[in-house]
Amino acid sequence: MKTYKYELSHQSNLIQIGNLIDDLHSVHVHLLRLQRRYYRIYSKYASLSRILKHITKLKQRTKTHWYQLPSQMIQNVAIRIDLGYQRFFDNIEDRQIGKTNRKVGKPKIKPNHKYKSVTFTQAGYKIGGNRLTINCLKKSFTFWKHREWTGTIKQVTIKRENVGDYYLYIVCEDYDPSEKLPLTGNEAGVDFGSKTFLTLSDGTKIASPEFYKQGLKAIRSANKALSRKQYLSNGWFRAKRHLVGVHKKIADSRRDWFFKLALRLVRKYDRIAIETLNLEGMKKLWGRKISDIAFGEFSLILQWTCVKYGKTLLKAGSWVATTKPCSGCGYRNETLSLSDRQWICPECGSDHDRDVNAAINILQAGVPAS
Ligand SMILES: [Zn+2]
Repeated sequence: MKTYKYELSHQSNLIQIGNLIDDLHSVHVHLLRLQRRYYRIYSKYASLSRILKHITKLKQRTKTHWYQLPSQMIQNVAIRIDLGYQRFFDNIEDRQIGKTNRKVGKPKIKPNHKYKSVTFTQAGYKIGGNRLTINCLKKSFTFWKHREWTGTIKQVTIKRENVGDYYLYIVCEDYDPSEKLPLTGNEAGVDFGSKTFLTLSDGTKIASPEFYKQGLKAIRSANKALSRKQYLSNGWFRAKRHLVGVHKKIADSRRDWFFKLALRLVRKYDRIAIETLNLEGMKKLWGRKISDIAFGEFSLILQWTCVKYGKTLLKAGSWVATTKPCSGCGYRNETLSLSDRQWICPECGSDHDRDVNAAINILQAGVPAS
């Protein structure tokens, strides 16, 4: 499976896609409210088949305008809500038998600004050249086709992003990733850090880009401009769009840097070992710095790059101690504190750089990621 992303050109009828998304949002709200009422009366949730039957009735009675929406899409909204409830109940059971500690919440009503996309699975659209036709709107839209897709199209999603741009996501199957890179015989463990972004087990250090820090000034002034405007006035919306644009630009350049870095690593090493990170815990400890460096995002990109170029990603379990044990003899340095960057093992006498030692430990504990 591979997803291709295209920007829809600005055109006056784009607003109709926005309206379609808003209509589906109202279906989403209606169905969730319905489930809540049902629960109050019967103390249980309505099954999917019951909801689907009810939708047919609604269309004949109070919601006749739903006839204009593709029925498959309305069904999709119901199916998604049902999946949410299933996950919620399965999780309660799993926690009772001790299978997991993670808590899954009850499906919530999404506010309008968080309901952003419509998905077509099989029917309802046509793509020819750089034109997308949406059957229910009886309208065509042009998109900026900067590259060809390969494989057969499985799913098409249109997403409204914060700045008011619309993007087309085409998911293709039978994608042939035959871009294998030659093997080099090298392997490396990778340690993430807040000061140095990556430390490799062979001693290479890669400094963090700190796009966020550079962009912080721009964000601050955009924020200030926004706060001077009268809430919900035209100027306020303009300032809001600008602020979102600044955030987007930083996120984009960070993502770009990640892709280039991942490719650099994959060119050099056949096997790369990373730590499995507890991202939620880290965010609480260090605040913005960690979200800035966005380890999670990089891990995903690295994983994807490894698959694409025929290399292996190894993962060391999050319970594996990486910092304290000596990578040479296994001696545990319990007195090591966060400020110690360098230490000498009292058992075998090896001189350790804190991060390089951790990277070697990660490489030794790494097992192929599933
Ligand atoms: Zn040692």
